[in-house]
Amino acid sequence: LLEQEVQLHRLRNAPGGNENPLSMAFNPHYGSESILPQGIDVRGLPQVSRESLKLVKALGQGAFGEVYQGLYRHRAGDTAEMPVAVKTLPELSTGQAESDFLMEAAIMAKFNHPNIVHLIGVCFDRHPRFIVLELLAGGDLKNFLRESRPKPERASALTMKDLLLCSLDVCKGCRYLEAKRFIHRDIAARNCLLTSRGPGRVVKIADFGMARDIYRADYYKKGGKAMLPIKWMPPEAYIDGIFTIKTDVWSFGVLLWEVFSLGVMPYTGCANREVMEMVSGGGRLEKPYGCPQEIYRLMCECWNPTPTDRPSFATMFDRLQRFLQDPEIVSAPLPVVRSLLPPPMEV
Ligand code: ADP
Repeated sequence: LLEQEVQLHRLRNAPGGNENPLSMAFNPHYGSESILPQGIDVRGLPQVSRESLKLVKALGQGAFGEVYQGLYRHRAGDTAEMPVAVKTLPELSTGQAESDFLMEAAIMAKFNHPNIVHLIGVCFDRHPRFIVLELLAGGDLKNFLRESRPKPERASALTMKDLLLCSLDVCKGCRYLEAKRFIHRDIAARNCLLTSRGPGRVVKIADFGMARDIYRADYYKKGGKAMLPIKWMPPEAYIDGIFTIKTDVWSFGVLLWEVFSLGVMPYTGCANREVMEMVSGGGRLEKPYGCPQEIYRLMCECWNPTPTDRPSFATMFDRLQRFLQDPEIVSAPLPVVRSLLPPPMEV
């Protein structure tokens, strides 16, 4: 344990590390109360022993605490170590933060699918609390797309086939959630992570923060509308507060648009208020430059004003697979265009 504390301390204070901003908060012990809202029982989660984990380097800052890359040894005698991501909860977090942190693990524990990040286990016996996930070393889909943009002198290394495969991966994850009747509420390129960047990459849905937050009684009081991903939401969600699987279908249409525009911010330069007005008045995102017409048509179907008229993920899976078999679509390289270059401001 001591060794891990030292590791954590060293990693936290390494360049790029962060001091714990919650260190002044009060932390009541997570005692006998192991049943969370929705009947999720902490004791039912797979457990990982602290001794089988080694933290290697800091990956980034999460909503609660630092996320580390680590190595996990499944059994004591094993020589093979598996690369993992370890989400940590700072020692002096509030009880609310602790149950939110655990809630995300409990949500992920319900799923078992190659396009959804796999929960290996939790380590909640002592502090700091850990959530151990499979490592997705390729970073998030939005940054991957942006960094793969063509340059004036060089076409993108990606083809339409790569973009379709990424879209299909997310669609498969969503199709699984749809079958489980689980509404994600925040399908977007930033919330998908890649196993690697090269060919053979697999995209997985990796962030369940929004689904977790709706379990919190004070969620709307705290964040309000400013916290909502308006540009990815259908009008019935922000006007009437109606969330169904068809909410995720709309968001997936926006994700398709992000993929085929190589990570452009949807409705660039528009504030959320303007987007709400424009979209509820019938306005839609334009076809990304060079995007095949059939794919844009699918996006537009996701944005049907009548939720029940939007396609299911099962249908979209079939459609995307058919696009993948269309030689005209898959062999097209991405065009070299100036307008796709990142300008000084984020687009
Ligand atoms: P937030 O809590 O703000 O949604 P996360 O905790 O999901 O953010 O992630 C924080 C950082 O850790 C991000 O840079 C993210 O890419 C990285 N990360 C999260 N999960 C994994 C994972 N399974 N594999 C690799 N990196 C991850």
